[in-house]
Amino acid sequence: MKKLGFGCMRFPLLDAEDNTSIDFPQVCQMVDLFLERGFTYFDTAYFYHGGTSEETVNRALVQRHPRDSFTLATKLPLAKLKEATAQEQADMFQLQLSRCGVEFFDYYLLHCIDDENYEIAQRLDSFAFVQQKKAEGYIRQAGFSFHGTPELLEEVLTQHPEVDFVQLQINYLDWENPKVQSRRCYEVAVAHHKPVVVMEPVKGGKLANPSPAVREMFAALDLNASPSSFAIRFAASLEHVFMVLSGMSSLEQVADNTGYMGDFRPVTPQEVAVLEQAAQQIQADGTIPCTACGYCTDGCPQRIPIPALFALYNRTLGQPGPMQKKEYREACAQGSPASACIACRQCEGACPQHLEVVEQLQRVAKVFED
Ligand code: SF4
Ligand code: SF4
Repeated sequence: MKKLGFGCMRFPLLDAEDNTSIDFPQVCQMVDLFLERGFTYFDTAYFYHGGTSEETVNRALVQRHPRDSFTLATKLPLAKLKEATAQEQADMFQLQLSRCGVEFFDYYLLHCIDDENYEIAQRLDSFAFVQQKKAEGYIRQAGFSFHGTPELLEEVLTQHPEVDFVQLQINYLDWENPKVQSRRCYEVAVAHHKPVVVMEPVKGGKLANPSPAVREMFAALDLNASPSSFAIRFAASLEHVFMVLSGMSSLEQVADNTGYMGDFRPVTPQEVAVLEQAAQQIQADGTIPCTACGYCTDGCPQRIPIPALFALYNRTLGQPGPMQKKEYREACAQGSPASACIACRQCEGACPQHLEVVEQLQRVAKVFED
């Protein structure tokens, strides 16, 4: 299997403010090109695109292509099962089969294991539930996506050696990041002999659009290679990684990614040295390391559009002009501005990047609302 997977959480949108307004004709073109070029792995989840990704995958992929021409991964939404019974967990699995329009999943993951979700999984015996579904033929490979510490990963893999694989956040910016600890998590997975799927190789698009200084560093290596190509090749070069997911948002991105990953070349020592320098530059630029996953917004009592505000802050490098301040007011119009935050910290509990959202919103309010 080629090492590039199609992440289905960043489909192109018809309305940038509405995460469910998926540009379906373009998604079909993207799926077709991806398959035509010999790639097969698709990764969706119950939560993606406000709950519409699984159904979109059904219509764009499952209903339009033979079942043996692709492999499909989705994830049990543990965060939604906080108060659920075992029967409701089983019902959720059935619902996902039906939303995706398949009779089995090639890969099925417990979604976003961290301290809180691990407790939910233990209470519901979710690992055993997934093994039972695997024995019944509804799942081929069972794993979990992970957003905790290396110590927690060690604990989970020791308690659940039955899992077939793990999905980790790995990219050249987070490799040594003390909050994400990509390298240490990867090493724990390897020590437990688990193959690894990589998520966020371009950190929610952040590494696809680096500063001009970083672009120049990449251009000196290869004028024709995109910034994303270095990020994805970095992750794919790790020996125990069998799949790198890219949340592609346009036909151009599919064409670019499948171009260099069709004939994959691992990164060279010279390229790794440049990526280390690039990581230092990006860390120093003061932007907020949000991946725009949107997990923080559902439970916000003030309905603050957190990822949109962080994106705007990053785009202006904290120095907005009048046009961007207008954009800010428009982004807040459906909910509340950053200054409305009441510091309940619900969002911080939901954030897989472990961001200090409250403090970051204070920075945003200061530059956009003063
Ligand atoms: S801390 Fe602020 S931004 Fe976060 S959920 Fe509470 S009100 Fe919303
Ligand atoms: S603040 Fe955290 S949870 Fe919210 S969109 Fe950004 S990365 Fe995701």
